[in-house]
Amino acid sequence: MPNSPPIFVIQKHAARRLHYDFRLEVEGVLKSWAVPKGPSLNPHEKRLAIEVEDHALAYGDFEGIIAEGYGAGAVLVWDKGTYRNLAEEEGTPVSMSQALANGRAFFWLEGKKLRGGYTLTRFGKPADKRWLLVKALDAEADFGSDPLIEQPASVLTGRTLEEIAASK
Ligand code: MN
Repeated sequence: MPNSPPIFVIQKHAARRLHYDFRLEVEGVLKSWAVPKGPSLNPHEKRLAIEVEDHALAYGDFEGIIAEGYGAGAVLVWDKGTYRNLAEEEGTPVSMSQALANGRAFFWLEGKKLRGGYTLTRFGKPADKRWLLVKALDAEADFGSDPLIEQPASVLTGRTLEEIAASK
């Protein structure tokens, strides 16, 4: 669908270390970050996001068990929706891929659990894989609730990570 908005997806992944994979559709692939503590609604919470390899768009619907090898463990689609790129440089809109190349992305999520503005900011040079994912201070910010704890289940199937891990 040519004019459909780009998607985002967040997969909770019980690999050797539990983390959340944050993925944004950019030019036909899912740009991806592993977020050890997951996203927050609180603008004061700066969440480390480690840039990882791009994934195919279709992977955004994957939920189940990675049987073996790197990343082995259960995967749950924790949130999914669309986003709008809001990035500007000196008042001029910039494309999502340019914003990421610059190390400064700003976008609005429309998910089932997460809504509102978020920034992704690279620590330093393009070779640096470390970014910070931070909620913008807007009407969707929430200093009190934690959807990671309050809404743990899959947005695709309603299952918990434990239920997925126990399934064959
Ligand atoms: Mn992962």
